[in-house]
Amino acid sequence: MPKKKPIPVFDVHNDTLTRIRRAPPGKSRTFLERSEHGHLDLPRAREGGLAGGFFAIFTPSPDYDHEPRELIGDDGEVVPGGWAIDLPPRLARRSALAFTVSVMSDLFRVVEQSAGEVELVRTSRDLERCISEGTFAVILHIEGAEAIDTKLETLDVFYEAGLRSLGPVWSRPNAFAHGVPFDFPRHPDTGPGLTTAGRRLIKRCNELGILIDLSHLNARGFWDVAKISRAPLVATHSNAHALCPTPRNLTDGQLDVIALSGGVVGMNYNVGFLRSDGDGKAETSLTEIARHARYVAERIGVRHVALGSDFDGATMPGDLADVTRLPGLLTALSDVGFSEDEVRAIAYRNWVRVLAVTWAG
Ligand SMILES: [Zn+2]
Repeated sequence: MPKKKPIPVFDVHNDTLTRIRRAPPGKSRTFLERSEHGHLDLPRAREGGLAGGFFAIFTPSPDYDHEPRELIGDDGEVVPGGWAIDLPPRLARRSALAFTVSVMSDLFRVVEQSAGEVELVRTSRDLERCISEGTFAVILHIEGAEAIDTKLETLDVFYEAGLRSLGPVWSRPNAFAHGVPFDFPRHPDTGPGLTTAGRRLIKRCNELGILIDLSHLNARGFWDVAKISRAPLVATHSNAHALCPTPRNLTDGQLDVIALSGGVVGMNYNVGFLRSDGDGKAETSLTEIARHARYVAERIGVRHVALGSDFDGATMPGDLADVTRLPGLLTALSDVGFSEDEVRAIAYRNWVRVLAVTWAG
């Protein structure tokens, strides 16, 4: 019998470009060559069956000290087993713009040097073609809109350069919105909603056909987008708050409205967003990812479940040490009862469907 073709995975959140540019001494790597550092490069993606994904540009905050401290509850008492992590201050636009342009240029060079193996995808037709012919599909995403001016002129330029997905905030506040902190346990209702510029940003993304990523946004910002946006609602790398009560995860009410809009949720492999105790230790089974996928599928339907790894931006479960181990995750999804067709939907088809609607504008 001929060997069955493995199911391709299209994964919508990694921090690989940012991590490569900021590699610490002795750990430098490139995307096109195999490395033993980090989670993702092209040779390892091929080995693991990764067909492509959203490549995030995230401008780190300088000197950010994110040591956890005690979490104080609404009653003024220390929450046992909880912690709070201060968010960094706002980032100057000039430094975010310079960093974003540098990393975009890194990506353009990867595409140029790949001899046709890597493509910067701008349309859903291109995406479907890349997945079927085996060209590695890269979608340009910006995580945190600090590089964009409030008149949105930079947004037009970035769109022409290939930007097709934008998270208005990483967790720190900016001119458009407020993000959630990394406190645990906590509800995502942590502050004010979108600013006036933020509302303009959402409308302009709709007009251009840029996907709006709700991951990292606080609850009021989330509900503002739900009211304003006419595109399917999408959280690229967030899990179920009912199973792991970090504010980075989605409450049942948020999951419900994502389903109503025809949107999708990418399961995040970060151990701290999977475990019910919020602990960030790598000794965590990858079955935890399947457990969140199962929960979301049972609540809102499997057509709204997808994958958003957070490779190169988070601590992975030990059995998913890098992208070469993806087949083990697909097995874990089957093991919790998803059929082959459902695994295929989670692995790439749901994203293809949502992007086709979103990018049509
Ligand atoms: Zn993120």
